[in-house]
Amino acid sequence: MSASTEFSPLPLLFGKTRRALGWQGFSTEIPENWNPGKFSGTRARGDLRVDDENGVRLELRWENSKKTPDVEKSVANFLQTLEKQAKKRGEAFAIVEDAKVVSRGKKRKDQVTSFGWTGAPGAPTSCGFGAAWFCPTCDRVTFAHVVGHQKDKAAKIERLAGEILGPLECHGEGGWDSWSFYDIQIEIPAEFELARAQMLLNKIEVEWIRPRPVGLYGWGRRPERLKLSRFPVANVLLTDSSLEEWADWNVRDKQKLLRFGDAAPTSVNGHEAVLYRGGPKDPRSIASVWLFDKILRRRTPPGELRVWNCQASNRLWAFENEVAPINLHVASDVLDSLDCH
Ligand SMILES: [Zn+2]
Ligand SMILES: [Zn+2]
Repeated sequence: MSASTEFSPLPLLFGKTRRALGWQGFSTEIPENWNPGKFSGTRARGDLRVDDENGVRLELRWENSKKTPDVEKSVANFLQTLEKQAKKRGEAFAIVEDAKVVSRGKKRKDQVTSFGWTGAPGAPTSCGFGAAWFCPTCDRVTFAHVVGHQKDKAAKIERLAGEILGPLECHGEGGWDSWSFYDIQIEIPAEFELARAQMLLNKIEVEWIRPRPVGLYGWGRRPERLKLSRFPVANVLLTDSSLEEWADWNVRDKQKLLRFGDAAPTSVNGHEAVLYRGGPKDPRSIASVWLFDKILRRRTPPGELRVWNCQASNRLWAFENEVAPINLHVASDVLDSLDCH
């Protein structure tokens, strides 16, 4: 056996398997067992909590700021609040001076401020390291915070925070955002707002909506919509029914807004799939779409629903879209961006 003349690179200390996290324009990589827990708000203002099996691991908060904010002062206020709470409980608390989480030169952001604190070693959250900044591109102040659990060493959490928050981007590129949660990754145009997200054991479902345009062009239009659903254990779900039967009962007939017709066979990503087309159920909506299509000499394309069986991942997937005629490409672009296995 001959020894290699060159050293091959070894993984980083915390170089455990990572997966992408993408949410409201933010994107980075997190340890594989971290998943979105609670979330609220919009792209303009909101928060996201990422948990592992023992509780909260990462907190992200963001807010639109028209005027240039004072990030350093906000961070000082945040640490003060934590200190007050710890004192009230009679617990130890210390601010880590000179915390190194995100270096100022590394990020093309304004007022990058790193911070850190340590609490009582036995407390459920023993320490925290984070960074805050203002981004003139997305006009948001971002506040990101990685917390340590009971036996975590502060130095380890400081490094982990650096590995996660250093590469954290706060806006997508080219008008598209990457959305990544659990092992799902999909690209969505930034103008679509998150409307609803359900992350349950038996179903993950996320819907994005782009509001109706204002003015004449918006008359009789419905908002544009994209919706992705995923159901586990396809082989069990399809024990007693075909893909078409299952999709009729569990996806098509559950639709509240659109009335879809019969399934037509198609394929998605090389998988057996069914395609439905349909229009609004609400008679007033039908009349107004018809009327304004005539007046404006346009055609409103039908809504589409695709359901497919990904045998490689043993999951059933559904993708629904309602888009304006000029955006018909969006539906296929989004589908192309999705890797179902
Ligand atoms: Zn940004
Ligand atoms: Zn697949």
